[in-house]
Amino acid sequence: MKISIIVPCFNEEEALPLFYDEATKVLSKMKCEYELLFVNDGSKDRTLKLLRVLSKKDTHVQYLSFSRNFGKEAAMYAGFCNASGDYVAVMDCDLQDPPALLPEMVKILREGKYDSVATRRENRDGEPPIRSWFARRFYAIINRISDAEIKDGARDFRMMKRPMVDAIIEMTEYNRFSKGIFGWVGFETYWLPYKNTERVAGKTKWNFWGLFKYAIDGVINFSQSPLNIASWFGVLMTFFAFCALIFIVVRYLIAGDAVAGWASTVCIIVFIGGLILFCLGIIGQYVAKIYLEVKNRPHYIVSETNLRKPKLMK
Ligand code: UDP
Ligand code: MG
Repeated sequence: MKISIIVPCFNEEEALPLFYDEATKVLSKMKCEYELLFVNDGSKDRTLKLLRVLSKKDTHVQYLSFSRNFGKEAAMYAGFCNASGDYVAVMDCDLQDPPALLPEMVKILREGKYDSVATRRENRDGEPPIRSWFARRFYAIINRISDAEIKDGARDFRMMKRPMVDAIIEMTEYNRFSKGIFGWVGFETYWLPYKNTERVAGKTKWNFWGLFKYAIDGVINFSQSPLNIASWFGVLMTFFAFCALIFIVVRYLIAGDAVAGWASTVCIIVFIGGLILFCLGIIGQYVAKIYLEVKNRPHYIVSETNLRKPKLMK
């Protein structure tokens, strides 16, 4: 039995050696075959050089290096497409996903009842309160409006058996939202809670705006509800307009015409104009996604690797 650990790395020169030491310490004790599959996501620092050195020193180290930064989602996808293990895990490079959990994950999978072991943060320590608040709102909303189950505090850190990995590879959509994809493919998942820790070295690649956009993407990729909201707005507005029309006609018949109320009319026009633009915006979001999907571009392009039979593009 072989374990593949996929590690997306973007400017991780500081954290990479620490991760390698820690992961190797745990994995070498586990008495099974393993590979550490690093995906260098277009780093601008010495990450790739370190990977070359590590791969010469240790045959367990495999790496793919992208031709530019394609994002963590693309890096994970490249990892899935190239991992050869029976069990495949995804881990961040910053040791926020403790390798010490790996033996327990393997044990749970071996028992046979579960196809995947996922991790969930118990707490959000070391995170700005406003970020936590938005995160919680996001999970509450998306679980209501989407058919993929997405757990609050779920990390990308999880270990899966081959059939689930193959299912994920089959999901070739360009707009990838892994938390949704993992939920969508189904399979029995065991949730392993653990305490959140801060990254060991280097800086996080996320800022508040980036996370906000990521959340919106998540909603759009896994739910059609915003489109329904737009339609319902339209229906509601038409109904109101119809009632108003009847009111005006009746008033004209009873009280005659009076040129008054132009201010309120302008308000209503501006309000409705705003609503129309809002709804067009929602539709635009989906059209933009469709545009990216139909172009059918590769998710990633590999410019260097030490794998023997790599999928250089997909
Ligand atoms: N990462 C990546 N490509 C990117 C951004 C991040 O491969 O464009 C990797 C990064 O190297 C790390 C993991 O994704 O291994 C998680 O990133 P980070 O720790 O910055 O996110 P956070 O833990 O703060 O959510
Ligand atoms: Mg991190």
